[in-house]
Amino acid sequence: MLGTERIFTRRRAALVADLRAKGIRNDRVLEAIGHIAREKFIEPGLRDHAYEDKALPIGLKQTISQPFTVAYQTELLDPKVGETVLEVGTGSGYQAAVLCEMGARVYSVERHYALSVRSQKLLHSLGYRAFLRVGDGAAGWENCAPFDGILVTCAAVEIPHALLHQLKVPGGRLIIPVGDRSGQTMTRWERTGLDQFEKSELGLFRFVPLVSERAVRQ
Ligand code: SAH
Repeated sequence: MLGTERIFTRRRAALVADLRAKGIRNDRVLEAIGHIAREKFIEPGLRDHAYEDKALPIGLKQTISQPFTVAYQTELLDPKVGETVLEVGTGSGYQAAVLCEMGARVYSVERHYALSVRSQKLLHSLGYRAFLRVGDGAAGWENCAPFDGILVTCAAVEIPHALLHQLKVPGGRLIIPVGDRSGQTMTRWERTGLDQFEKSELGLFRFVPLVSERAVRQ
């Protein structure tokens, strides 16, 4: 058993070096990834692949995001200690763990009950206190808004406007991949005033779709 732990620890360090080589610069992000046992968020049969820079199936046709994607989105969000962050798409709970590890107060919404329950248990067993809820994340989490950051881990064809309006004024930021099944553009919105937003478009990615009735055209 100790042998396996050591192998995972070594692979985790190699993954962090790989992410750095691929352009991730934020040391707090890399440190968090360097601390979290990704193999625990993956089904036992696939654990050998836990530290490859790949998305992996987690059941219900969903995936744990590729480590580079997690690092990239988290770097764009740049959550500070004590900030309140909403994640849309809890999935395996790994991204939520990264945000907790960085000292954020984490809220996360997942539409699949089974994934939410499993992630809740896992996160608690690892000592992370994220607040999880089952529902449509496109509606955000009104009662707990405003958020310093919102991170969407599934692809939206259109921007869910509720999310923009749950960002803190000023300075709240939303990181969301926008596009259809053929690919998505990572998009960062920063709320600069009550009805003012600054938008930047970044790299191309491929996520599982955000499934919602609420997404409205931009
Ligand atoms: N952040 C996750 C990635 C999971 S994949 C991780 O670290 O593992 C994206 C997740 O978004 C899937 O679990 C999917 O079920 C969920 N999802 C899709 N549409 C959603 C919606 N409208 N509201 C909440 N979750 C949604």
